[in-house]
This record gives sequence, structure tokens and C-alpha cells, in this order.
Amino acid sequence: MIAQIIFIIILAAAVYLFTKNAGKIRRNILLGRDTDRNDNPAIRWKTMAKVALGQSKMVKRPLAAVMHIFIYVGFVIINIEVLEIMIDGLFGSHRIFSKPLGSLYGFLIGGFEVLAVLVLVACVVFLARRNIVHLKRFSGKEMTAWPKSDANYILIIEISLMVAFLTMNAADYKLQALHVGHYLKAGSFPASSFIAPLLPNQATPLEMIERGCWWFHITGILAFLNYLPYSKHFHILLAFPNTYYSKLTPKGQFSNMASVTNEVKAMLDPSFVPEATAPGRFGAKDVTDLTWKNLMDAYTCTECGRCTSVCPANITGKLLSPRKIMMDTRDRITEVGNNIDKFGKDHNDNKSLLDDYISREELWACTTCNACTDACPVNIDPLNIITEMRRYIVMEESQAPASLNGMFGNVENNGAPWKYSQADRLNWAEK
Ligand code: SF4
Ligand code: SF4
Repeated sequence: MIAQIIFIIILAAAVYLFTKNAGKIRRNILLGRDTDRNDNPAIRWKTMAKVALGQSKMVKRPLAAVMHIFIYVGFVIINIEVLEIMIDGLFGSHRIFSKPLGSLYGFLIGGFEVLAVLVLVACVVFLARRNIVHLKRFSGKEMTAWPKSDANYILIIEISLMVAFLTMNAADYKLQALHVGHYLKAGSFPASSFIAPLLPNQATPLEMIERGCWWFHITGILAFLNYLPYSKHFHILLAFPNTYYSKLTPKGQFSNMASVTNEVKAMLDPSFVPEATAPGRFGAKDVTDLTWKNLMDAYTCTECGRCTSVCPANITGKLLSPRKIMMDTRDRITEVGNNIDKFGKDHNDNKSLLDDYISREELWACTTCNACTDACPVNIDPLNIITEMRRYIVMEESQAPASLNGMFGNVENNGAPWKYSQADRLNWAEK
């Protein structure tokens, strides 16, 4: 009974804290400007099924894709067992599904064990890639102490949970063989039966190991759940809505600014009645000038570095890293959210995404090639943030680089980027 009460208290606290922190992230995302991404629901569901569920963009790097699928499928499916653990914890039962599921139960537990081993192997390979092979994609100036530790913590937690799961089963397997108390014959143990010989043969220490691993496994999962909102691993939840709300127009297609379009149309046609546009600045100086989708992108970023590894600016030694653009955006919106919590929603900390987090040199290094958006496994669009910030620099501050100012002047005066008058356009065809 005491164990049940402790379990209920831990479960309630974990669910409460997670809901609270996930709610803060939702609030932060909604600080962004509005944008309509509810059109074409059928295409959106299809995109989500293909990219988030089917991991279609991961396959470009086959080894990483296979390992990631082990972790993804394994972790999701093994967590079905968590349902049984929860019910056992709440009602003080043991392996409650074994009777109603009959022989299917053995098949399921056996399958979970195979998946647990695959998850273990994949996590060890991923740890080695980061800490022994030192894959270039996982380095970079934005991969400071916390992002590096975060990735390692996640892998170590997953390894620990899988080891606890297999050890718990191994102890259970032995207790079943010894016909101890409520440890009735249930389940099949293709992997943990190899660990069993390493465990003691007496009932009391075996029960202590089984119960210890049971508590470690379930409290570890609840702690991991609460770690998610502070970690890049939050992508396991946000990847689904983020891909659903993907940009459906061609990647290179830029949005027109309604306020500018209105002005041009009014100049050309005095009878034109402009559509109402929300007041605000041109482009983005801070995170609240971005859309909620930009901010959801930032919280979905897995810091995998696929975008940066294909960025021509980064490859040729420029300061720009699209992964850093996303991480800076997430750090800044988190800071804005924390300020709201501490000082209220009107607090101004005199900081902004531009200059305090992302430099102008980074922004102007972008070639707008879209390689980053194409490479991202969860359909994040760093380029949209870059172009919105450039729009602010050009349209609000008139601070375009000198090399662009000449072109802007030509467009304004000659209607084309070149330095000659419109009347001379066909000179090339003479003779
Ligand atoms: S669009 Fe810009 S940030 Fe993205 S890959 Fe191309 S150059 Fe890099
Ligand atoms: S933006 Fe996409 S590709 Fe780039 S680091 Fe984040 S998840 Fe990876």
C-alpha cells in the first residue's frame, strides 16, 4: 500500500510538472506572429506521416537512419510496457496483462527485449560517433558545453533505462523459475535470459533487484519526460505538429509583404482599396516579430547539424550556421518567456535576436540556396528567419551592405539590377 501511495505521488508530480513546462513552451511559441497553416489538411497529414512518422528524410544517411529507427521504434514500442508498469504501480499488481493476453504476452515481452537490445546498440554507436569518432557535424561554435552534454545525457539515460528493463526481466525470469510468491510464469525473455546467470540465485536479493530495477525504470521514464522540455529531445513530440504545419509552397517561393504590396498597388492604381494589414515592423528584429511557426521550428530543432553540413556559406568558412540560427532563436524566445514569468509581459530587457544573438555578418553570408531546409529531417526552415531579419535590416534600418545598395538603386531608377537605363536594354541586339 505504501509503495502504491509513493507511486501515485511521483506520477502526479511528474505529470503536473511536465504539463506546466510544456504549457510554457506552447505559450512561448504563441508569442509569435500569426500565420495561416491550416490549408490542405490532406497534404499536411500526408507530409507528417511521411516525414515525422516515416522518417523519410533520414534515409539520406543510411547508417544514421537505421540506428535512429532502432531508437525511435524501440523506445516508442517498449513504452507500451510502461502502461502495464503504470497499472501495476497504481493497483499493486504484477504483470497484469499476462493473464488476459495469454501467449501473446510472451511474444510481446520477447519483442520488447529484442528492441531494447537494438536501442542499446544504437545508443552506444551514437555515443561513439559523438565522443570517440568526433563526427564533424556534431561540432561547431554553437555546440557549446550544454548542447554537447544534452546529447550525451539523453543517450546515457536511454542506455540506463534499457539496462534496467532487461535486468528487471532477468530477475523476474529467475524468480519465476524459483516459483517465488506472485512471480507466476509469464513472458518470454530472449535477451534477459543471458543476463540471468550473472544474478544471484536466492529469492531475496533477486526480489530486491527486480523491484529496484522496476522503480528505476519507471521513475527514470518520468524524470526523462520532465527533462524533455529542457532538451533538444523535445523534438520527439514536436516533430509531428512541426511537419504537419510545413510550408507547402515551393521552397524558393518568398511571401510578399501585404503592406508593401498595398503601397505598390495604390501607386499604380489610385482606385485600389488596400486590404487591412496588421501594424508592426517590416521583417524581424526580435523573436516576437517572427511567426509562431518559426518559433515552433526552433523548439523542434534536434541540433543534428544536417543543415549546417550542407550550407555552402558554412562549408566555405563563413560565420553562418543554420543550426545556430535555430538554436539562437530558441534560446532567445525562452529568455523572453522567462522574462514574462519573472517580470510580466510588458518587460523590456533591451535585447533582441538581431545583434545580441545573431550577427549581421551571419545573416548576409546566406546565399538563400535552401539547402538547409531541404536537408532538415523535420522540415525546419532556417532561411525564412534569415530573410525576415534581412528584411528588417534593409526596410527598417536601410542598412543593406554597400554591394547591395548599388543594385537597389538600379532597380529603383532603371527597373532592373543593371547600371544602364531602360532605353538601352536592347542595345545588345544591334548589329
Ligand atoms: S539557405 Fe542560407 S543558411 Fe541555408 S544552406 Fe543556403 S546559404 Fe546556408
Ligand atoms: S534545423 Fe533541422 S537539420 Fe538543422 S540542426 Fe535543426 S533539426 Fe537538424
